[in-house]
Amino acid sequence: MVWIHHVPALIPRMFSQFVWNKERSENKIYLTFDDGPVSGVTDYVLDELAKRNMNATFFMVGDNIQKNHRLAQEVLQSGNGIGNHTMHHVNGFKTPYEVYLEEIDNCQLQIQETLSISSRLFRPPYGKITKKQFKSVVADYDVIMWDVLSGDFDATQSAEECLKKSIKYSRNGSIVVFHDQQKTKEMIKRVLPDYLDFLNDSGLETALL
Ligand SMILES: [Zn+2]
Repeated sequence: MVWIHHVPALIPRMFSQFVWNKERSENKIYLTFDDGPVSGVTDYVLDELAKRNMNATFFMVGDNIQKNHRLAQEVLQSGNGIGNHTMHHVNGFKTPYEVYLEEIDNCQLQIQETLSISSRLFRPPYGKITKKQFKSVVADYDVIMWDVLSGDFDATQSAEECLKKSIKYSRNGSIVVFHDQQKTKEMIKRVLPDYLDFLNDSGLETALL
C-alpha cells in the first residue's frame, strides 16, 4: 500500500485550488473523520471528542448516512461539521463524469434529508478526482484535502507508529485525516485518545472547516 503521512509542499503548490491546510498562524487543528457514520466507531469518536470539548468535521458516505440516521444526527448535534464524501465512496479516476456528479448530489440529498442542512464541503474518496470533475464540484463546494494522513487504515503500521507520525506532522492549521469505519475501528481506539491528549497538551485547539 502506497501512502504518505505528510503531503510534501510541492503537491499543494501544484494543486492550489484544493484546500490542503488552513491558516498557519493560529493554534488550530482541523480534525477530519472519513467514511462514516458507522456504529461502534463514530459513536466512540464522538465520546472521545466530547470528553475533551473538541470537535471535528465528518466526511460522510451517503450510503452510511442512510443506514445510520440517528448516528449522523448525533454527529451534527454534538457540534461537529459535516462534509460530503459521495454516496458510495467512489473513486473519481474510475467513475464516469456524470455518475460522479450524481454520487455527490445523492450524498448531499442524504445530508439534507437526514440533517436538514446542506454541506459546502467535499472530499474526494481516495483523494482522486479528475480535472473535469473538479471543475464542476468546485463551483458548489470547497474541495478539502489534507496535510496529515494518520494512516489508521494501514494494518501493517503499528498503533505506536501511527500515533508518532500523526503527532510529528501536526502543526498549526493542519488538516488531519482519521477514519470512522469498520476497518479502522481497532486502530482508532488505540491511537485517538493519545493523539487528542497531545493536542490538548500542545495548546492546539480543534476547529471546524
Ligand atoms: Zn474515504
